[in-house]
Amino acid sequence: MTVFPIDKFEGLQTPFYYYDMLLLEETLSTLRNEAQKYDFHIHYAIKANANDRILHRICQYDFGVDCVSGYEMEKALEVGFPADGIFFAGVGKSDWEIELGLNHDIACFNVESLAELEVIHQLAEKVGRKAKVAFRINPNVRANTHHYITTGLDENKFGIGLSELEKVISRMQQMKFIQFEGIHFHIGSQITELDSFKELCLRINELQDWFIAKHLFPKIINVGGGLGVDYEDPDSHPIPDFSAYFKIFKEFLETKPGQEVHFELGRSVVAQCGNLISRVLYVKEGAKKRFAILDAGMTDLIRPALYQAQHRIDNISGFNGDKVRYDVVGPICESSDCFGKALDLPEMKRGNIVAIRSAGAYGEVMVSNYNLRKTPDVYFSDTI
Ligand SMILES: *Cc1c(COP(=O)(O)O)cnc(C)c1O
Repeated sequence: MTVFPIDKFEGLQTPFYYYDMLLLEETLSTLRNEAQKYDFHIHYAIKANANDRILHRICQYDFGVDCVSGYEMEKALEVGFPADGIFFAGVGKSDWEIELGLNHDIACFNVESLAELEVIHQLAEKVGRKAKVAFRINPNVRANTHHYITTGLDENKFGIGLSELEKVISRMQQMKFIQFEGIHFHIGSQITELDSFKELCLRINELQDWFIAKHLFPKIINVGGGLGVDYEDPDSHPIPDFSAYFKIFKEFLETKPGQEVHFELGRSVVAQCGNLISRVLYVKEGAKKRFAILDAGMTDLIRPALYQAQHRIDNISGFNGDKVRYDVVGPICESSDCFGKALDLPEMKRGNIVAIRSAGAYGEVMVSNYNLRKTPDVYFSDTI
């Protein structure tokens, strides 16, 4: 459980990100131990948090990475992740990004369309090297999560639809500079019902038989990421239940000899170690409600505005008085700049310090400078 050094916070300019490095370490070692039980391969989805210190820590666990841009590949290589552990995903890969991946001979391009496969093939031919590819297949599995972060349905832009797969495969079989490695899935994010993953496994079992019947052996089965975290009560579940998660795949995925099962986890690795620390600027009595106005806003943490995400807000200045109902909002000139409506929280006063919890994933990486705001500072529990 994260303990906040409130006396150290008092002198610092808010808002800022605060990372609990001990919790990160515990999360990483739990993840590694649980994955090792089944010989599962882990790739960290760098888009969740690309802070240098966090990446250096993760790199020490010998995980691969999942990148969704050339810039992320450059960053991963700079930090020291080996190229042969890089998966490159993304629905719109630019030519320079594909060339970068080819030049470093990365482990796998996760291909999302026939048009993209054609371009990868052309560029691979140009450098005279085979591109290793897996097909990202849209399995049409519904993950019960917010519609903005579901990705595995027919209506989503991601992946190759089942109806197109036949055409893509037969074209690939004529390509000399493409090496088929396997199949890739990613059904969404913040998935808390493990049944969705069971459904994914059953789908993969069917699909891989279909590939094998076509004399294509998927060496890599990449099941993506998406494991959710407890945003409501981070102190009760600081580390996601990796054990239960991996058990589902062990139980329901029918792997063949010589196959590797790969995961691309982002949120579940870094969400709980990060917090956005902010001060209460004003408490404003509106006509119908009471607002607590913070100095942090959607430019510092956009998830509430973007996905209606709800982060737990703790007043860490030590006031545990009677609960009062607030809309907790930021200072940005947008109505969506709101961290929560009608929240019953211990009374807040100007100057109180609050921690917006579980902000380690898709927090700092999505910071913007809208309203010409400054990028928030970052502090770490072991160096503050
Ligand atoms: C974002 C993403 C992930 C990571 O998702 P999390 O929900 O953060 O675990 C994994 N794979 C792909 C292809 C992604 O786009």
